[in-house]
Amino acid sequence: MTTTPVKSFDLEALINSLQGIEIITDSTQVAKLSQDYHTFSPVLVPKLAGKVGDVVVRPANEQEVLKIAAACVKYRIPVTIRGAGTGNYGQCVPLHGGVIVDMTRMHEICWVKPGIARVEAGVKLAALDKKARESGWEMRMAPSTYRTATIAGFVAGGSGGIGSIQYGLLGDRGNLIALRVVTLEDEPRVIELRGDDVQKVNHAWGINGIITEVEIPLAPAYPWVEVILTFPEFMAAAKFGQALADADGMIKKEIGIFASPIPQYFTPLRQYIPDDTNAALLLVAEQSLEFLPGLVEQYGGTITYQKQAQEVGKGANLLEFTWNHTTLHARTVDTSITYLQSIFPADKSLKLVEHMYHHYGDEVMMHLEFIRVNGTAIPAALQLVRYTSEERLNEIIHDHEEKGVFIANPHTYIIEDGGRKVIDPEQLKFKEMVDPYRLMNPGKSKALELKV
Ligand SMILES: Cc1cc2nc3c(=O)[nH]c(=O)nc-3n(C[C@H](O)[C@H](O)[C@H](O)COP(=O)(O)OP(=O)(O)OC[C@H]3O[C@@H](n4cnc5c(N)ncnc54)[C@H](O)[C@@H]3O)c2cc1C
Repeated sequence: MTTTPVKSFDLEALINSLQGIEIITDSTQVAKLSQDYHTFSPVLVPKLAGKVGDVVVRPANEQEVLKIAAACVKYRIPVTIRGAGTGNYGQCVPLHGGVIVDMTRMHEICWVKPGIARVEAGVKLAALDKKARESGWEMRMAPSTYRTATIAGFVAGGSGGIGSIQYGLLGDRGNLIALRVVTLEDEPRVIELRGDDVQKVNHAWGINGIITEVEIPLAPAYPWVEVILTFPEFMAAAKFGQALADADGMIKKEIGIFASPIPQYFTPLRQYIPDDTNAALLLVAEQSLEFLPGLVEQYGGTITYQKQAQEVGKGANLLEFTWNHTTLHARTVDTSITYLQSIFPADKSLKLVEHMYHHYGDEVMMHLEFIRVNGTAIPAALQLVRYTSEERLNEIIHDHEEKGVFIANPHTYIIEDGGRKVIDPEQLKFKEMVDPYRLMNPGKSKALELKV
């Protein structure tokens, strides 16, 4: 990949032109706000070391975003947009310095109507969920970072999570209704994208305009129950997960399956998961709970814990052990652990899971998250990997790909090398229009170089 080095830019002039907008110049703060959670990857850490912005700006409304966009275009300064900075690919780390735009002050919930909500970009997912629940609705899906992550950060950097077993991934048609985006043209303007047009910006890592508002569909809210199960055999746990995922009459929001020894990293949950057992963490609607014991028994499992999810402050929050929080917990015990992100092919998913489970043993520890893809429930996985070298990690990735497992590689900061593999031509066309000087998050795409 070639990236054009950025010539020095007139930061002082930029700061002078942004009078009235909150600006952070303190170098420690700026360095902190130039980071995200790429630190889960031992491959990314050395590649992104020392990459920091020059200044952070914190717009309070869309007018201020327009002003920031105009100034960055005028002085040709690179722009990195930031929500809560919980992304895992170094998406928020500026490769060429410049301005970090922190969107977290824009946190107004514009409205919630039956089945739909409109919010500003910096609204935290948990805040939207709480507000929606007041009228009987909730978010269709959220990452396990929902307490801190912002809605626009999820749209631009995330893909799915808790709820994806029912509603699929965020990029699936219908899971995102509209986006309002500020351009970085000579005269920045606001564009509203609706329907399928939202894909021009969805998962674009902040290279295709600054999202200021998001309109998103909601799901009916259920009283959820958190459940922990244990299984002596991993494949019995995996088959149980598939059976629950396939049980269309049972409403569920989360099915996470964890091979031993992963549950031993869940320190607050260890009293419910004996050593050497495999675990399932579930979120099941209260009215479906009655059907759970029969299914669990069928696969030789044991229910060891049950709690109403809305019992705030009581016990551990199970959701914060699922998805990439699993990796977080494992790394607090052993920092040499990293992870993969995979989707197993629908036609031979559990067979391949079983093969990989036995083939890699303790080197690649199996963590499954069931999701719905094109109407079929299949296992995605965020396997924990005992890291030895980049070469070995790549070998493991290639082996999975050769056998038909899709890998969204979290050990690259290049969009095309991660989940997407190619840049969507529609996104590229949109980019040419909204960011003609290629100032947005430069260096993150092979297809694009910065024009200065
Ligand atoms: C422990 C852990 C667990 C996680 N679990 C999940 C999971 O279950 N599912 C999942 O999908 N992800 C997961 N993630 C990744 C991440 O937390 C989510 O994708 C989250 O939604 C990102 O939101 P954020 O506000 O932190 O975005 P940031 O990290 O701040 O930004 C992400 C990307 O979006 C861009 N962006 C942010 N705001 C805007 C805007 N207003 N306009 C344009 N671009 C913008 C940024 O430039 C960046 O490229 C996890 C990460 C961690 C550390």
